[in-house]
Amino acid sequence: MLELYNTLTRKKSALVPHEKGKFSVYTCGPTVYRDAHIGNLRSYLMADWIRRTLQVLGHEVTHIKNITDVGHMRQEVLEQGEDKVIAAAIAEGKTPAQIAQFYTQRFLDDELAINILPADEFPKATEHVNEMIEIIGSLLHSSLAYEVDGNIYYDINSFPTYGNLSGNIHESELQEAVRIESDPLKKDPRDFTLWKKAEEGRTLKWASPWGDGFPGWHIECSAMSIKYLGKHIDVHTGGVDNIFPHHEGEIAQSEGYTGSQVVNHWVHGQHLLADGVKMAKSAGNAFIIPDLLERGIDPLAFRYLCMTAKYRTRINFTFTSLKACETALNKLRRHYILFNKSSQKGASNIDAVKEWNERLIAIVCEDLNMPGLIDGIWRLIESSDVGKLDKAEILRSIDDLMGLGLDSTADMYDLPEKIVGKSTERSALRVSFDYEGSDRLRTEIEKQGYLVEDSKDHTTVRFKDSSEIREERWKTISSSSEVASNIFHESLIPVTVGVVVNGYPDDTRRCISSVIRWTDFDQTEIIVLDNGATDLTGELLEEMAKNQENLQVIHADHTLGDGSAKNILLKMARGEIFVLLDPSVEIKGDFVKRIENLLEDPKVGIAGLAGLRTEDLLHFHDGEGQSGQMDAMQGYCVALKREDLKKVGLMRESFRYYRNLDLDYSFQFKEQGFSIIADHTLPMELHEHRGWTALSEGERDELSRKNYGRFLKKWRGRTDMLVSNK
Ligand code: AMP
Ligand code: ZN
Repeated sequence: MLELYNTLTRKKSALVPHEKGKFSVYTCGPTVYRDAHIGNLRSYLMADWIRRTLQVLGHEVTHIKNITDVGHMRQEVLEQGEDKVIAAAIAEGKTPAQIAQFYTQRFLDDELAINILPADEFPKATEHVNEMIEIIGSLLHSSLAYEVDGNIYYDINSFPTYGNLSGNIHESELQEAVRIESDPLKKDPRDFTLWKKAEEGRTLKWASPWGDGFPGWHIECSAMSIKYLGKHIDVHTGGVDNIFPHHEGEIAQSEGYTGSQVVNHWVHGQHLLADGVKMAKSAGNAFIIPDLLERGIDPLAFRYLCMTAKYRTRINFTFTSLKACETALNKLRRHYILFNKSSQKGASNIDAVKEWNERLIAIVCEDLNMPGLIDGIWRLIESSDVGKLDKAEILRSIDDLMGLGLDSTADMYDLPEKIVGKSTERSALRVSFDYEGSDRLRTEIEKQGYLVEDSKDHTTVRFKDSSEIREERWKTISSSSEVASNIFHESLIPVTVGVVVNGYPDDTRRCISSVIRWTDFDQTEIIVLDNGATDLTGELLEEMAKNQENLQVIHADHTLGDGSAKNILLKMARGEIFVLLDPSVEIKGDFVKRIENLLEDPKVGIAGLAGLRTEDLLHFHDGEGQSGQMDAMQGYCVALKREDLKKVGLMRESFRYYRNLDLDYSFQFKEQGFSIIADHTLPMELHEHRGWTALSEGERDELSRKNYGRFLKKWRGRTDMLVSNK
């Protein structure tokens, strides 16, 4: 029996079906005006493992996952600026339905890529408005809801157990939790909307007995869960953010409608954080499955990663951990293939196979202990008292539950004849101690894309796996912490020029070639961070570096935050002077001498092209065309003495977007007593600034605002440091 924590009872208990042997499972599905990020997918993986476990235990499962294609009731959708995406799509002549269709298909592809079993139905909210209207009508009829001017609200005071699921029982907590929107039509600010009257000009609306309008968010799940699973639902899943208000509202609606308890077991999965913070498109860390695919990372590695933590604990997702999981998964696959190929001595031990299977399933039955299962299978792999074919059999069977797709792993040892021939030839050379010859053959085999692994008494040759193929291209880093700092080391060269590029090969070429042209080869090192580009910028840089010995390229395996990316350059630099350039800059003359002159004064901390001044920290004027003392230096060109880094330190990595990071870093210098000097006549031309133009207005505003908040939080009140007060 599968035991799970029930959010409603706050206890672990066994799942018991309403109808013997048959389980009904409802999962709150995706909002399809955008891609599902890997955090969302973690929730769906949890539901998938629950379903698979029930099936492995011999039950029949009906699984429903709704598609929220009426996203306009979700504040978050508005906040993320995605309504603009919709607006843009509509401007291109697409209908909301086409947009929803597009993202639904992408969602199904994502689920397929990580082996989530498709739900039996994916009902769409827009196709169930009649069912919603029926429930709302019935709630009105029984006075659990009331109408005001074409709007229908749920009267939570008439549903005594409202608040039981989330624990938001006290009025003050509830008010806090709903962050009361000022809707003067509500009797109680905590009442929630079931139906909203369509405002003038709205295109997406439905006719109802109360006039044209559209449904609230929670009502869709009551309508679709009851329609497809009936009035007794065994398991309902979602992420923890769904508990309130979504599921609290769903209970009030469904039970108000049916008159009895509908959902028996509420299961909520904890969130996935990315690089330590909440995932949000605006933070640039809402990774999606195509992000992994574009970078050649096996998406099933993400499935494996989610198995390494219990569903009620947070996962901090990093690319480092993802790649470690990919390596582990590939190793597991190799074991599986080799076990299958082995010629086991003696008959299969049916009892042992059965016992292992039961033992592994029992681990999972304890509150879906997937990390325990991972541990169990590795113990199985290493165990000496199970035959290899038996191990293969146990793994195949438990994979019905894990869903790692072991059985569809391509046989990496199934080599073309000519490679087998070479390998045999090489083994013969090894036996006769002809190491020179065997090394030559090894190189030949590896050149053709295979991996040769020698152990003491034998050699295996196999196809390379996804991570080996990737690493063959170039080494990548996943975070700034992987880079050792040279700050406290001696300078080795007069100048380091550092550039972070986020794609755009043409810009990259223009900027880097101009630097090469206007710097002395033996006086300058150029370090370029390819910040996870997937548009051939990495290849271009490799090509450029081939002919340019003082050009060093580092590749990030995903897009790092701007603060981290720039810190990597600051840490790696060995020049006395460090010049950070934005790829929008094209050098037009000998800038190094000029910068060296500006920085000669020990009081000067930062020199650059375009400064900013402020009187109050609230308004920064573009010191355009101005030279002299500044309050901050814009990020296009920031030059500093590496020596001063010892005092000032690195940039703040919480700045993931570039904007206002330059202000913040400038103030770090000012705080240490350094001044900031601009020279607008430096020989540089500014081209289109992609960090700015690549984003929509809404995205820019939001990101800038967030960074500005970070800036102000630290520097508010420090007007003493400003030029105007000196
Ligand atoms: P949405 O598309 O926003 O309705 O979210 C789909 C599902 O993903 C819901 O069950 C959410 O609770 C869940 N979810 C949202 N963010 C995360 C996250 N960061 N980690 C795990 N699950 C999440
Ligand atoms: Zn829902």
